[in-house]
Amino acid sequence: MNALRSRRGRLTLALAAAAIVAIPTVAVASDAHHDNTQAARQAIKGGKARNVILLLGDGMGDSEITIARNYQVGANGRLAMDTLPLTGAYTTYAVQKANPSLPEYVTDSAASGTGWATGHKTYNGAISVLPSEQPVPTILELAKKAGYRTGDVTTAELQDATPAVLGSHVISRDCKGPDAMAACAVNDKVNGGAGSIAEQLVQTKPDVLLGGGKQYFDQTVKAGKYQGLTVLQQAQVNDYQIVTDATGLAAASPSKPILGAFAKNNMDLEWTGPTPTRTGTAPSTCAVNAARTASQPHLVDMASKALSVLDKQTAHSRKGFFLQIEGASIDKQDHAANPCGQIGETVAFDAAIKKVLEYQKQHPDTLVVVTADHGHTSQIVEAATLGYTATLTTHDGANMTISYATADITGSQQHTGTEVRIAAGGPQAANVLGVTNQTDLFFTFQRALGLG
Ligand SMILES: [Zn+2]
Repeated sequence: MNALRSRRGRLTLALAAAAIVAIPTVAVASDAHHDNTQAARQAIKGGKARNVILLLGDGMGDSEITIARNYQVGANGRLAMDTLPLTGAYTTYAVQKANPSLPEYVTDSAASGTGWATGHKTYNGAISVLPSEQPVPTILELAKKAGYRTGDVTTAELQDATPAVLGSHVISRDCKGPDAMAACAVNDKVNGGAGSIAEQLVQTKPDVLLGGGKQYFDQTVKAGKYQGLTVLQQAQVNDYQIVTDATGLAAASPSKPILGAFAKNNMDLEWTGPTPTRTGTAPSTCAVNAARTASQPHLVDMASKALSVLDKQTAHSRKGFFLQIEGASIDKQDHAANPCGQIGETVAFDAAIKKVLEYQKQHPDTLVVVTADHGHTSQIVEAATLGYTATLTTHDGANMTISYATADITGSQQHTGTEVRIAAGGPQAANVLGVTNQTDLFFTFQRALGLG
């Protein structure tokens, strides 16, 4: 841990600084000194939205948000995501495949993504198919069909559950490329199916596809019209410009669809820090991940490009766009019991949210929703607690102990079944208020875009 810096303030990461919001602008419920009734009233807007932007923090439960807030801006600071005017909670449970009338209380990202993307509950591992394994249309597919432009952005592999549920339908999330179809014979092209997640994403053809997972796009299509081509070549034949680094992304033209594949697997982490132990760690701070590939864009870079491209593409159209932006490795670093990894990804996700909220300020006919797909392991605890703990010194100059206690340190920490935050602003945002079900979000999007 020699790389750890003594003061978090020395982090030079531009996006970390960009994510700090000292004074919430419309924080309806956060300031007890002011009567926010009028602000809340003004935040409630019905009607249709020109654009819908979903920002999905994978595994970003309330405790993940609080950990990142405490560390980065202090207990009484506010992240960009905290400034959305209307906030509720939604339930995330999946259903049991053998008996779909029974809940599966702890969901994975595939079942939960299928919930918000299609309006249907399904089993863990399902990618926009029902418990019967029948495909159901997704909000991105419906928006595209209705004439909206579309985008799907992630820091994970593009074939990972969250980006996959928007543009593909397979019976197992593992079926990421033509060489990985063992669990999805019915979907395999060689059996007359629609193909792997990589193949289907390219066939669904969102205008913007940005993330990792290049290894699956490099696999060879085994049957059908594109047999013998790699999935990447199939994309090129269908007009995609392919980019593989930040420079290429910046130079990409809005006149053609963009497929950005910036890493073989998931994209690199923003931060590094201490590994939790049974007896805890000495207080320390996080450091920028020096091993991160410099040519990879940050999430905020991908979000900015997606916004500018989709905005240009719809400049002369009555209809705008649907865009999903995922902070994927909040979840992955929670699985890995890596507090600084998890916080760095949350801060990077918050920088993308800040960028989207700036866009919304200029385009108030945009519905912005910030939520998660499920809760996760990490908890803020007293020092000397059971489980694996690490202690970080926060922005407040106080020590915060974080515990991981759902698996051994050598294993993968587990999701939890808690409800999670859903916050929104713009037309139809009032539909996130109270306690809703994850599947309700699909209908909110549908109503906002006039697809119902
Ligand atoms: Zn996970």
